[in-house]
Amino acid sequence: MSEYKETVPIDEERIWKTIEAGRRARASQVLEVLDKARSLKGLEAEEVAQLMDVSDPELLSGLFATARQIKEDIYGKRLVLFAPLYISNMCGNECSYCAFRARNTSVKRRALSQDEIARETRILIDQGHKRILLVAGEAYPREGFDYILKAIDTVYATRHERGEIRRLNVNLAPLKVEEFQALRDRKIGTYQIFQETYHRETYAKVHLAGKKTDFNWRITAIDRAMQGNIDDVGIGVLFGLFDWRFEILAMMQHIRHLEQKFGVGPHTISVPRLEPAVGSDLASHPPRPVTDLEFRKIIAILRMAVPYTGIIMSTRETADIRRETFALGVSQISAGSRTNPGGYSTDDQEDMSSQFSLGDHRPLDEVIRDVSFLGYIPSFCTGCYRLGRTGKDFMDLAKPGEIKLHCSPNAYSTFLEYLIDYASDETRTVGEAAIARSLDELDDVSRQRSQNLMAKVRQGKRDVFC
Ligand code: SAM
Ligand code: SF4
Repeated sequence: MSEYKETVPIDEERIWKTIEAGRRARASQVLEVLDKARSLKGLEAEEVAQLMDVSDPELLSGLFATARQIKEDIYGKRLVLFAPLYISNMCGNECSYCAFRARNTSVKRRALSQDEIARETRILIDQGHKRILLVAGEAYPREGFDYILKAIDTVYATRHERGEIRRLNVNLAPLKVEEFQALRDRKIGTYQIFQETYHRETYAKVHLAGKKTDFNWRITAIDRAMQGNIDDVGIGVLFGLFDWRFEILAMMQHIRHLEQKFGVGPHTISVPRLEPAVGSDLASHPPRPVTDLEFRKIIAILRMAVPYTGIIMSTRETADIRRETFALGVSQISAGSRTNPGGYSTDDQEDMSSQFSLGDHRPLDEVIRDVSFLGYIPSFCTGCYRLGRTGKDFMDLAKPGEIKLHCSPNAYSTFLEYLIDYASDETRTVGEAAIARSLDELDDVSRQRSQNLMAKVRQGKRDVFC
């Protein structure tokens, strides 16, 4: 198959040189980089490289402390929650790490009907979710891409008791510009796609058949999304396939490319690590495993390098790792996830149609109780996207710190909605205490707005935001 002619230039030679130079960084240089990071202006590739091999315990704790401070300064106590909705595990690609790969006969194939999609959506609504990430393999049933469009309509049209899904993000294979336009017309939130690895040689080794073998078609997907007027995009790397240092610097080149070409970078970065998957040896034996310490470093370094870009942590990771990384920079988490189509409608946590094994199996209510106990304010906010504060508009508000004046109040109002409408008694008690404790830490404007919105929620109003 011939390759798509356009690409996003990734300068591999420069990346290796930068990594090498970074390894020689002295302690004083590392401290200078941490100082710069605290100014919330982001870091250059050379500076990022100087942090990657820090191993001295004191410098390392300085690195983590800096990431914690940045997280706190920009995101406060908020942690946005969502659930993935897998609608189909049919796939024409042969990604050697994924259970959905075409030749894997151990997996039961299933594409949910629109009724089944509505049923899964109702279950997520009844759990209290407001934000969904729609996920599918790359082989749509008979209707082709229309299947996805209908699924989006189905999710948005589903209402149950007091709830509805207010924001639907998607994680889908690369699309054509006109398909992106159709997604945009359906009012998706974020279009998310992971390059998996930015290292061409490794990419070729792990993607053995199907459209996904075309590195260029995949790496240019975000460009086409932007051309299709989707300015809210998410990128990511599948950690464990190749050297994480290379991946971080390559991802930074991708981000700079987007900033230069479209004036705005990604809204989110996802950090999946390879997890075991049925029918995949590679998934159980990652070629370049990332240790827990390195993983924490990755989150902390990204938090410093691109402070205003959200970092998403999925339930691939265990509850313990998730807890540690919230403080270091994670701003969005999934909870109560299933990665098999129809998974929310069965009791079987991981049947033979799941994409990979999960590290965190806890239901949403338990995750909410845990994170509020740790002092976070779980947020189901969908305000920015519904008020058109996306892409460059979002960043223009985020960088001077003004976005907080919206995010905090909206986090409180949506968290309170959850506590009143869906939480168990125990979670409600822990959650109300977290609200009371954390309000004092807000600036006056955010506190006042939060209290106003929460008063409306207590009076019975829903979906109030600013
Ligand atoms: N099929 C589309 C694609 O590949 O772009 C979209 C969804 S795919 C189901 C979502 C992501 O799951 C992939 O981009 C990949 O990073 C991740 N994934 C696949 N196998 C995995 C594994 N064994 N462990 C962790 N993540 C995995
Ligand atoms: Fe298919 Fe995506 Fe899995 Fe690859 S990662 S096999 S494209 S579902």
